[in-house]
Amino acid sequence: MESVNPATGDVIATYDGHDRAAVESALSDAAERFESWAARPIQERCRLLERTADLLRERVDEYAELMTREMGKPVDQARAEVEKCAWVCDYYAERAPEQLADEVIGTEADARTLVSYEPLGPVLAVMPWNFPLWQVFRFAAPNLVAGNVGLLKHASNVPGCALAIEEVLHDAGVPEGAFTTLLIGSDRVDDVIADGRVRAVTLTGSEPAGRAVAETAGRELKKTVLELGGSDPFVVLDDAPIAETAEKAAYARTQNNGQSCIAAKRFVVHTDAYDEFVGAFASELDALTVGDPTDEDTDVGPQAREDLMRELHDQVERTVEAGATLSLGGEPLDREGPYYPPTLLTDVPVDSPAATEETFGPVAAVFEVADEAEALALANDTSFGLGASVWTDDLDRGERFARRFDAGCCFVNEYVKSDPRVPFGGVKNSGYGRELSRHGIREFVNRNTIWVQ
Ligand code: NDP
Repeated sequence: MESVNPATGDVIATYDGHDRAAVESALSDAAERFESWAARPIQERCRLLERTADLLRERVDEYAELMTREMGKPVDQARAEVEKCAWVCDYYAERAPEQLADEVIGTEADARTLVSYEPLGPVLAVMPWNFPLWQVFRFAAPNLVAGNVGLLKHASNVPGCALAIEEVLHDAGVPEGAFTTLLIGSDRVDDVIADGRVRAVTLTGSEPAGRAVAETAGRELKKTVLELGGSDPFVVLDDAPIAETAEKAAYARTQNNGQSCIAAKRFVVHTDAYDEFVGAFASELDALTVGDPTDEDTDVGPQAREDLMRELHDQVERTVEAGATLSLGGEPLDREGPYYPPTLLTDVPVDSPAATEETFGPVAAVFEVADEAEALALANDTSFGLGASVWTDDLDRGERFARRFDAGCCFVNEYVKSDPRVPFGGVKNSGYGRELSRHGIREFVNRNTIWVQ
């Protein structure tokens, strides 16, 4: 497996993939380790997570630079990602004992009835490259503390990150077999899911990858959690404070080089705010610094892979052909590496690619609507349903609006973000199940009903 720096095209490192014998050994170690890992008191597993958080903070620069080298994330955002991984470890170390405590239910007067939350066993995580540490830690922290053991199949372009995650967990004292990276391609995932020792699977990534994994897991009757793509609406109502909203809009679209499932992608703007908002939004996007992701001043680095940038550019071209106006950007930059500039599309037809497909890069599609009802209808007119945000001066109006979004994570006057304390996940083609908070830690546990008469 090769790890290539998208900014320079240099091969950073090559790794030997795991052959069948290596995967078999990882599966057997995982199954064996599960027995002793699950039997440990939860407080011991919590202490190992706290130690992991400490090590992540100590190694913040090392891991941030690794992510930036492998997938082009601006280095200050990479540092914030490592810190967030430490946060999710600390969060579950503190909260898991209460979240997984027995739930006593009053039934008959002479019976003791309760639900206990028991770990399942080895859980496979198929993960993407865009938040190469965070996506994995938001799976690993709750599952390890719950007593499950983890098998990671990371995206093929971030093997260095995959091994670094295994390393930091082991250095913190998580034993061999409790968390293992499998260096395999996606064509080997079906066999791992089908293996009798694997009890469940979670995937974060594209819709086709989610469908493929869910199909195999369905055949094998294994529980899945899917966190797939999104085409999040960012609704600007007529009373939104324009300057502040435009600034947030630019960040919401371009964070992580625009490669986030919860990036705002469709900007739905009330006609009374339209001209002012579009002008301010264009200025904000235009002011962003595109360049070397290791430079502290860079806002937008390269796209993670050349093929992904070509796909994005093709979506822009097809949207313009369908009738949209290219108001900013729209051409790959003439320099080494797959750099795509912040791009603004206005007059976007509702059946064009930027309206109906996920655009995974710094491309914003703007739509003008006559009133609140039209804004809501357009916001929900998508096959996705991950996040959504609405911007207004009136908090009650915002909350009423947010309740009617057909999405999993709805924000008022804030861009959509994941936070260990609140559940994260989608509806429709954005997937199902929840990560984070007490909802996330209860996805891969057996809710065991105990009735003692
Ligand atoms: P993928 O969804 O293909 O990759 C994500 C993970 O799934 C990787 O580990 C990948 O492995 C694995 N995978 C892919 N296909 C299968 C399969 N059939 N069975 C089992 N596992 C599979 O993302 P890409 O990198 O190809 O990006 C393509 C598009 O996906 C992006 O442009 C974006 O639209 C979307 N995407 C969305 C993400 C999100 O957070 N919502 C994250 C990443 C991508 P391998 O790398 O070995 O192929």
